[in-house]
Amino acid sequence: MEANRVYNFNPGPAVQPLEVLKEAQSEFLNFAGTGESIIEISHRAKEFEKVLNDAKADIKELMGLGDDYEVLFLQGGASLQFAMIPANFATEEHKGAYVISGSFAEKAYKEAKVLEVGTIAGSSKDDDFRHVPTQDEIKVPQDAAYLHVCYNNTIYGTEYHYIPETGNVPLVADMSSDMLSRPIDFKKFTFIYAGAQKNLGPAGVVVVVAKKSFLEKSPTDIPTIMRYSTHLEKNSLYNTPPAFCIYMVGKTAAWLKKQGGLAAMAERNAKKSKLLYDVIDNSNGFYRGHASKESRSFMNVTFRLPSEELEKKFVDEAKAIDLCGVKGHRSVGGMRASIYNAMPIEGVEKLADFMEKFKKANA
Ligand SMILES: *Cc1c(COP(=O)(O)O)cnc(C)c1O
Repeated sequence: MEANRVYNFNPGPAVQPLEVLKEAQSEFLNFAGTGESIIEISHRAKEFEKVLNDAKADIKELMGLGDDYEVLFLQGGASLQFAMIPANFATEEHKGAYVISGSFAEKAYKEAKVLEVGTIAGSSKDDDFRHVPTQDEIKVPQDAAYLHVCYNNTIYGTEYHYIPETGNVPLVADMSSDMLSRPIDFKKFTFIYAGAQKNLGPAGVVVVVAKKSFLEKSPTDIPTIMRYSTHLEKNSLYNTPPAFCIYMVGKTAAWLKKQGGLAAMAERNAKKSKLLYDVIDNSNGFYRGHASKESRSFMNVTFRLPSEELEKKFVDEAKAIDLCGVKGHRSVGGMRASIYNAMPIEGVEKLADFMEKFKKANA
């Protein structure tokens, strides 16, 4: 590992690939021979246009998507998508249907509720969000405008391991915390979005990958900037875009391609998460995972210790050896290790080793 750097297990903003950070650093003062940095050049400059278009192309290539899909770079985070999606696509007759699998899914539903165009199609709240609803637990109204799912539940540490069947209803997914982490049949989704700060780059840009024909459907009675059709028409340049963020997302996508794409990432992420889940499963109950086994996330590993005192001690001792950000979200308690694409296997090995030692010393 690089001197003076720690292993960062925070959920987002999160660890980024070291190669990407270094490359950005090396070309910061003089981007592409312009004599300016990427945050100084015009967003209409051909050098920036290339950054944006290359990023779009690489993301679509990684996802195996063709010309019927478009990539948009928007602002306002995933949270603005919670509001834009129902404002653009749902109506009182054709509501947006939501699967409630955790806090962010619930927040998305609440925005549709504000507009009175939301309905619930399934929930695992009764189970304290330990699993994502199964196909049997989801009832998709066939007149719904879309079915919205949160594919990886960052706070609870659960993830879909199947693609919900929706009939003719378009499938919309919040993939903020597992975007580009493994190959999925993305063609089954009509609309995917992800705040960049988990798995794709810095906070400040949200990546939307959606069918063009769907994006074109925006109504004209909502403000211009709220319409997907506006951003589609303007190639994400309707207003000044977050240039640096898009540039970093582009670099991350290029890095992913160099690593072997999503198949290679999936293999690495499965290996990393298994290291931690194995420690949990073999700890005789010292570590208790929050997620049910069939819904376990490859990205966020959540677990509790026997007492809150031990949990505090765990966080402190981990931090002392440069394992940072392992404290869980207050709504679940305990620990959460976020091990996104950019977390090297060495970091996870070090955490697994620390967990073993901590158990021996405190069980
Ligand atoms: C972090 C997160 C969000 C919120 O993202 P913002 O960019 O902060 O709005 C939404 N959904 C999921 C799944 C997340 O992990």
